[in-house]
Amino acid sequence: MKKLKVNTGRKYEIIIDRGIINHCGEYIKKVSSPTRIAVVTDSNVHALYSQSVITSLKQSGFIVSEFVFKAGETSKNFRTIEAIYSHLADNNITRKDMILALGGGVTGDMAGFAAATYLRGIEFVQVPTSLLAQVDSSVGGKTGYDIPQGKNLVGAFWQPSVVLIDPDTLSTLPERYLNDGMAEVIKYGCIKSAGLFRLLKKGRDELDIENIIHRCVSIKRDVVQKDEKESGERKLLNFGHTIGHALEKIYEYKKLSHGEAVAIGMVMMTKASERDGYSPKGTANKIAELCEMYNLPTHDDSEVRDIAFAAQSDKKSSGHNIDVVILKSIGDATVSTMDLRDFQQYIDVPEEV
Ligand code: NAD
Ligand code: ZN
Repeated sequence: MKKLKVNTGRKYEIIIDRGIINHCGEYIKKVSSPTRIAVVTDSNVHALYSQSVITSLKQSGFIVSEFVFKAGETSKNFRTIEAIYSHLADNNITRKDMILALGGGVTGDMAGFAAATYLRGIEFVQVPTSLLAQVDSSVGGKTGYDIPQGKNLVGAFWQPSVVLIDPDTLSTLPERYLNDGMAEVIKYGCIKSAGLFRLLKKGRDELDIENIIHRCVSIKRDVVQKDEKESGERKLLNFGHTIGHALEKIYEYKKLSHGEAVAIGMVMMTKASERDGYSPKGTANKIAELCEMYNLPTHDDSEVRDIAFAAQSDKKSSGHNIDVVILKSIGDATVSTMDLRDFQQYIDVPEEV
């Protein structure tokens, strides 16, 4: 078992342990005393893990209800949020009660947003079951949902009471989602830890995944603690994401998964910073080699003009400026702001460089 303390708006713990999903109730009892717990989960995760979680909650004496939505990003909208609110009201969830988010990032983001807004805010617990949710979305307090104009355009910062991470749940996660999460793991290595980057070169079969999750969560914890609302340090977490988001958008969220798009973004950004002498020669290749080990793409044929255009409408760009993350070396990153008009030229690196 590994534990981490987070001290943002509220203090809470992240506990990583194999099989912890069967003991949710006991851990919740240590941090809070709700009467009722509403479990929010998606259809896939429901079939696999709801029974264990609900049994544990009932054994600890909680009154449990469950809300299940159709798995997938297309459910991450206000209609689902509204249905969650109805479920909470119908099941007499009060200010003293709690929501438990059981699932990937889609579940955590929506359940967290419902918790942030229902009755002006109730407690919630994160039980992330995808690698992406375990190393990224369950930590940091960002919650929200998508609207037709863009992903995650509505949201709130709302911290969980505790995060319970069970690495064993990854045994059922489809391969593509596992690789998706690995892109974020590689990102953490790139921006903050040469040691983690080196470890990843061993390949997935040799990794101690509990240790990897712990390292990633510690990095994210440290970053969000320094900068909860993303005014400085937290921008580092966007490494590869400006181009990544642009590519996802170009392909209308169909051809590339988030992690795949981010992998391409990390390599492209580093090629650009290498050309300008900010990153040592060979850095982009090292990242590309690692991404390939985890079946992540490192190149895309989109025109830089289209990427730059899509990046302009990214909500993370502010006014005429765009923040780019530059690796001074693997494990050491910095943020630089540039004029949006220069961005297209910046990322336009001929293939042979
Ligand atoms: P997801 O929640 O849709 O999960 C991916 C798929 O895996 C789903 O089909 C799900 O049913 C399935 N699944 C999850 N756990 C499983 C398990 N243990 N076994 C079998 N199947 C399982 O998506 P995701 O990739 O986890 O997260 C992506 C979402 O996270 C996006 O909406 C993104 O915006 C959000 N996100 C949020 C933050 C944040 O800081 N809040 C950060 C990064 C990403
Ligand atoms: Zn990401």
